Amino acid sequence: MRALCWVAADELAVREVPDPELRNERDVIVRVRRSATCGGDLPLLAGRDPLLRAGDVLGAEFVGEVVEAGPAIRGHRIGDRVVVGAGVACGGCWYCRQGRHSCCDNAGVDVPGVDPGWERPDAGCFGRPREAGGFAGGHAEYVRVPYADVGAFRVPDAVDDDRALFAADAAPTAWLAAELGEVRTGDVVAVWGAGAVGQLTAHAAVLRGAARVLVVDRYEERLRMAERHAGAEPLDYRQADVTAELRERSGGRGPDVCVVAVGPPPPRSIGDRLAGGDRPDPVREAVHACRKDGVVVVLGGTDGFALDTVTDKRLTVRAARRPDLRDVPMLLHRMARDELRTEHLATHRLPLADGPSGYALFADRADGCVRAVFTP
Ligand SMILES: [Zn+2]
Repeated sequence: MRALCWVAADELAVREVPDPELRNERDVIVRVRRSATCGGDLPLLAGRDPLLRAGDVLGAEFVGEVVEAGPAIRGHRIGDRVVVGAGVACGGCWYCRQGRHSCCDNAGVDVPGVDPGWERPDAGCFGRPREAGGFAGGHAEYVRVPYADVGAFRVPDAVDDDRALFAADAAPTAWLAAELGEVRTGDVVAVWGAGAVGQLTAHAAVLRGAARVLVVDRYEERLRMAERHAGAEPLDYRQADVTAELRERSGGRGPDVCVVAVGPPPPRSIGDRLAGGDRPDPVREAVHACRKDGVVVVLGGTDGFALDTVTDKRLTVRAARRPDLRDVPMLLHRMARDELRTEHLATHRLPLADGPSGYALFADRADGCVRAVFTP
């Protein structure tokens, strides 16, 4: 089959790779109908992960059709159209039984000779290198889905592929962010980043009853989308003093909940760097902007961390890199009732053969790209 593979730093290629096979009685094989780029792919693309190997298949988010099922599969039949949660989880360990699938103890694979630097390996994820389980991703014609009764969800007929795709990762991450932030009726919520996760976080906050939701970004098309589709107030950080503006719009206190949903910054030219004007680290900015006793939710990696200010302001900081699987059925249900629309986030639709150029658009945020969606 053909698949979009990582080859070297900033180099992807569509290659012929072996077809996946059932390896376990709880596996299914899915024929992919759509797959999407994801912010978590960008550090991989840049070659920042030493465990990535040439030929690894990327793609954390995909929708497809079950074409083979292992003998222990109970919840799926051949021909079912399914969205597959980006995270792989066993469904039976202590964390999974509590619905905290992203902490699963069994779906990450120990890599011999590699110390991941923490007690247990991270839970698995599609399209990530070996320390996240080594599960080949969805930018391919077929994917092996382990524990498919846990991580694959039947898509209602009323929900098309482009909408369902976002139930794999972006929408559940956004809902988790609103939950970790404990967004309540009347809250002022600020979201850094107007990519797919940021926009959907704003939407989740509105649905949880937030009185005002502000989205901070610099890309005009994204800010306009957040305004139109999520009812958020755009805040262009090139034109505003973000902290002062947030304080002004939250009764002088600062937002109750601050969510940092920014991906890695796009590559900058040497000219840009010499010109300076670097933005403050978004987590640092969120910590400074948040009201005292508020909650800061961090979804993306960052270096600067103002722990002293966290202590002074009695803040609660919560963080997650990946969502659990428990919200996916609820999100599909909302999608089917048209309460949650996500297809506008699929700004670019391309054949898988054009995967490398789709990633170039996505990585540079070029041409208004929020997510590139591929069809094998
Ligand atoms: Zn588990």
